[in-house]
Amino acid sequence: MSKYVAAIDQGTTSTRCMLFDHDGAVVSVGQKEHAQIFPRAGWVEHDPMEIWGNTREVVAQALARGNANNADIVAVGITNQRETTVVWDRTTGEPVYNAIVWQDTRTGKICEELGALGGGADRYKDRVGLPLATYFAGPKVRWILDNVEGAREKAEAGDLVMGTIDSWLIWNMTGGTDGGKHLTDVSNASRTMLMDYRKLAWDESIAEEMKIPVSMLPEIRSNSEEYGVGRKSGFLAGVPIAGSLGDQQAATFGQVCFTKGMAKNTYGTGNFMLLNTGEEAVPSKNGLLTTLCYQLGDAKPVYALEGSIAVTGSLVQWVRDNLGMIKNAPEIEDLAKSVDDNGGAYFVPAFSGLFAPHWRSDARGAVVGLTRFVNKGHLARAVLEATAYQTREVLDAMNADSGVDLTELRVDGGMVGNELLMQFQADLLDVPVIRPKIAETTALGAAYAAGLAVGFWSDLDELTAKWAEDKRWEPTMASDERERYYRNWQKAVTKSLDWVD
Ligand code: ADP
Repeated sequence: MSKYVAAIDQGTTSTRCMLFDHDGAVVSVGQKEHAQIFPRAGWVEHDPMEIWGNTREVVAQALARGNANNADIVAVGITNQRETTVVWDRTTGEPVYNAIVWQDTRTGKICEELGALGGGADRYKDRVGLPLATYFAGPKVRWILDNVEGAREKAEAGDLVMGTIDSWLIWNMTGGTDGGKHLTDVSNASRTMLMDYRKLAWDESIAEEMKIPVSMLPEIRSNSEEYGVGRKSGFLAGVPIAGSLGDQQAATFGQVCFTKGMAKNTYGTGNFMLLNTGEEAVPSKNGLLTTLCYQLGDAKPVYALEGSIAVTGSLVQWVRDNLGMIKNAPEIEDLAKSVDDNGGAYFVPAFSGLFAPHWRSDARGAVVGLTRFVNKGHLARAVLEATAYQTREVLDAMNADSGVDLTELRVDGGMVGNELLMQFQADLLDVPVIRPKIAETTALGAAYAAGLAVGFWSDLDELTAKWAEDKRWEPTMASDERERYYRNWQKAVTKSLDWVD
């Protein structure tokens, strides 16, 4: 009987469970979308109970489709949308508020006030590797404690706990109110603004300044070790939960970027480029994040530089849902192919402000360069090109911070099926863009971390040998044309930064 590793990928738009065999091939998939809740402009929430319910459902689907049960699963790995924050009551198991999603900008004022204590946006950067921005988890906890009636009193009495989605799932999977384990991993913890990235421990003075009781915080563990086993009544009863990584770190792991200097870029709701910087944590001078890449059990941690872009694939969704210009995401490619170029139009999708390398919560979206000539096809191009330009900004920052120019880029995520975008990306970066055979790198990375912990796979070399190239796009654009496009984009960005409501 074959044995599998299960990976649970709790993403921004949907939850998936995948079973992987020893070759790293996908055996079966369960998937379900959850509601995106937009209570007002700039706010984005998810229902944590819906996410937990969907998780159980997709696990059951994947097991049924793979003709498997808990006895066939050697380990479970978890990967999750990062920064999205839940505060719940440890005795009832009830969240006190919806999960506040990473894209949510409601903590702008809290971040500003913390910065005003001294140091501005860089107040905690030398300890946590991150600028003060609405993206990260700590200020979201603060908002909940400040705004949900009775929450602060309960938190101070020790009744409430906080966690990113990894913690929420692991707590529920290991028993919830019946002995659930409250823990997180170094990669997720490095996105809270509360963890000292050198010590891999909570910085209590930052928690105090953010008015977050330390008793709410989960225990910090490595990415690959046994955290607990699936609860008795669950579909994964008794199965070791042995891997946990934030989604972008998981994709980096699944792309086997195990050596210093290797990088990947994931094209999903947003875009996230991570460069492995080895055992050295590199502070950024160019608007990137210093973050944990992974830590395997007791081994030394490996760090990364990250360029996070809030809106890429979600702009395509917006064109589908809010403008109704297309019926599904892949259709945007057909529309873009109906014309030869962007017709002079540029679209800066600063819906959640601008993340890397600008970190401006107050930036807002802009479409510029319009003339009577511009049609739907040109706008579709501008939408796809926005992803490529934002990626160029991040890659330039990465080259500057690391002092080494990347010579190729490994890509994955939902948008990499878009050939027009991938070619334009290679042209704009002037480096080859490479897609691997197994495109499900996020789930694969979580499976690898869990499988390593239980000895299903022996070491990183074994995993590296499984990576294979599917397709490569070579740059063909003339350099003056490339620079003209990019210059126009940079002008468009200034409009988005200047906009004040
Ligand atoms: P996530 O894990 O962040 O939920 P995925 O990696 O599943 O996201 O990617 C989904 C995103 O990719 C969606 O935002 C969707 O709009 C976009 N997308 C999917 N297919 C295409 C395509 N062919 N062209 C452009 N965008 C696409």
